[in-house]
Amino acid sequence: MAKLIDGKAVAAEVRAKVALEVEELTRNGVVPGLAVVIVGDDPASRTYVNNKKKACAQAGIYSEEYALPETTSQEELMTLIQKLNLKKDINGILVQSPLPSTLDEEAVVEAINPEKDVDAFHPSNVGRIMIGNFHFLPCTPAGIIELINSEQIDITGKNCVVIGRSNIVGKPMAMLLLHHNGTVTICHSKTRNLAEICKNADILVAAVGKPKFVTADMVKPGAVVIDVGMDRDMDGKLCGDVDFVNVEKIASWITPVPGGVGPMTIAMLLKNTVVAARRQNGIL
Ligand code: NAP
Repeated sequence: MAKLIDGKAVAAEVRAKVALEVEELTRNGVVPGLAVVIVGDDPASRTYVNNKKKACAQAGIYSEEYALPETTSQEELMTLIQKLNLKKDINGILVQSPLPSTLDEEAVVEAINPEKDVDAFHPSNVGRIMIGNFHFLPCTPAGIIELINSEQIDITGKNCVVIGRSNIVGKPMAMLLLHHNGTVTICHSKTRNLAEICKNADILVAAVGKPKFVTADMVKPGAVVIDVGMDRDMDGKLCGDVDFVNVEKIASWITPVPGGVGPMTIAMLLKNTVVAARRQNGIL
């Protein structure tokens, strides 16, 4: 039976450390600040934004919310980003995704000052991750590395398989595993022999967005299985990309959904906001 990697507990540790850092910075007159921009009224986005604001408050980070209507124009959004880029009390800018289809999300991300890009989605930060000279790491993949480290699992030389090649999870995840000396394979919807490739993985990361997609016959006995998925099963219940009940029986470690990768994403956002505040105030 696999050991559970407790994302809630690891995230609580990260958040406690962040809170201590914020306390020290605040004593020195620097209060880290995060601006969260949300456009439209997608209920899932609203929940994420509320959770991020609450987490900021708990860590002593100042936060501002900009809730804009669905009808916001590209120009209006770009003007707001420019304003936030210049705002001294704001160190991090997060634009909640997805934006309405009328808006050009790529252009918005590119407009964010890379020093305030706490999601690490700006091309300049993505490039930095590629060459291994980065200030910020994207929150979800960075959180996954923390989870793996929390169990002292050595990535060096391991066969790592990432299912999914999105810019926010799959690609940066593969890059971080590579930086940790894993031998990395990225799979996607056009991959042939997916089950066979997965079965070879010592560390398997599922970021597909399909409920219970990874079944036990795709998993090598003793593998470490990281489930990024936040899906709904046939009963509408939250579940991951991994068939947890059956995979748990053969893996050595596994992350649950909920309570695995999810809590880490917010914890790493707080960490990035503190890094941004330090850098912008020359406190390194
Ligand atoms: P995405 O942009 O939709 O990407 C999904 C990836 O899965 C794509 O690369 C796609 O391949 C691949 N895929 C789809 N069907 C496949 C198949 N049959 N075989 C192999 N690969 C397949 O999703 P995402 O944003 O990366 O998110 C993935 C999941 O993680 C979602 O459930 C999301 O909600 C969750 N998530 C969780 C957190 C968290 O904090 N826990 C954060 C972000 C995302 P193609 O590129 O070929 O289409």
